[in-house]
Amino acid sequence: MATEIAVRKALIEANSWHADKILGTLAFVRPLDDPCIRTHDAFGKGDISYPKLAPKQSPFGSLPRLNDLRKTLIREIIGKEEDRLDDGDSDGISLFNTSTGAEETILLLQNITNPSYTSAIPSMNPFFTTISGLQVELPDDFSHMMAITEEATIVIAPSNHLLELQHTNESYTYTTMMTGQVIWFVWPPTTHNLDCLKMGYEMFESDRRKADANIIKLLEYGVTFVQEKGDCVRLPPFCVILALSTNTTVLAKTSAITGGSFIQGLSNIPLLEAWWKTEVGGAKKRHDFFSALTWQIRMILSDDVEAFSTKDLEPPISLSDPLPSLLKSWDDVKAGFMSIMNVQDREDIMARLVELLRRCKGNSCFICGKSFGKSKARMNVEAHISQHHWVERDK
Ligand SMILES: [Zn+2]
Repeated sequence: MATEIAVRKALIEANSWHADKILGTLAFVRPLDDPCIRTHDAFGKGDISYPKLAPKQSPFGSLPRLNDLRKTLIREIIGKEEDRLDDGDSDGISLFNTSTGAEETILLLQNITNPSYTSAIPSMNPFFTTISGLQVELPDDFSHMMAITEEATIVIAPSNHLLELQHTNESYTYTTMMTGQVIWFVWPPTTHNLDCLKMGYEMFESDRRKADANIIKLLEYGVTFVQEKGDCVRLPPFCVILALSTNTTVLAKTSAITGGSFIQGLSNIPLLEAWWKTEVGGAKKRHDFFSALTWQIRMILSDDVEAFSTKDLEPPISLSDPLPSLLKSWDDVKAGFMSIMNVQDREDIMARLVELLRRCKGNSCFICGKSFGKSKARMNVEAHISQHHWVERDK
């Protein structure tokens, strides 16, 4: 029960106004290091599916000193904002957190070495930014899977910031704590949990806090732990999380998308649609997600098919690599992503899919196994895709 004691201790010392919610949540979860078998299994097969807290798994070679980071970020942010205003874009989307504005963001950045800095705005969003020059090397967890690594970001949250109940995205994420302390609650991505969360997002429009409190009681197989300076946390995709920063917190974060997690992302578009409606700047997040998704699909379809052995692309297809995974799941998930693509994207994806299927060995379609007929001429392949593997846009 060491973890549970650590969570309570961190909470009492923090003297947080979110204490009631966090203490109430403790009754519904188990310590991360002492799960029952059912809890462990609910997260999925293999250790990679279970959240892990360990300094040694940090994928970052070296991280900048906090003082240097502070100077760099303030300089960059002020510069970018000035450029935006110089361009006459005063009505556009600010690079600063939309809910907080420039002054609060600068104050937060100035205070990253002050452990007890709290924002005057209780619901202030954490500050996210990408940072160049961070060396990232994923641990061996992914050595047997082809993974796309995403850009490293720095996340900064004031002390006593509550990250409301929400899902993690379609990646395996690694966060290494540069300073601060966070109490985490993590629930596995079971169908039940994701359905409950979707319901919570839909209820949100009336009352977020009430919705969260009701949903937490329904969630199953959750775990809790405390992350401190130097600790690295690995979370699997589409978990349900709740987190409280008890000190001013700076995290370095990176993530990896594998074939399996990518398909999970495509399958969870209805959950995401419910979530975007609850978010400040949700329309922009939705747009960014689909841009990234289209880019990922394009990249996967452009992959050199020769890099896979023909066996990888023959049924039963392994779900460990993005390309076989995408082809295998294409018919199940195509409606979700095609509905949001613009005409150009759709033409481009079609061209890449035709090219890919033409390059595959033999004369049958690697999505459904049907024969292309007399030949794999472009026309035949295109006709087959249009007929069997495409979704027309709503007129
Ligand atoms: Zn087919």
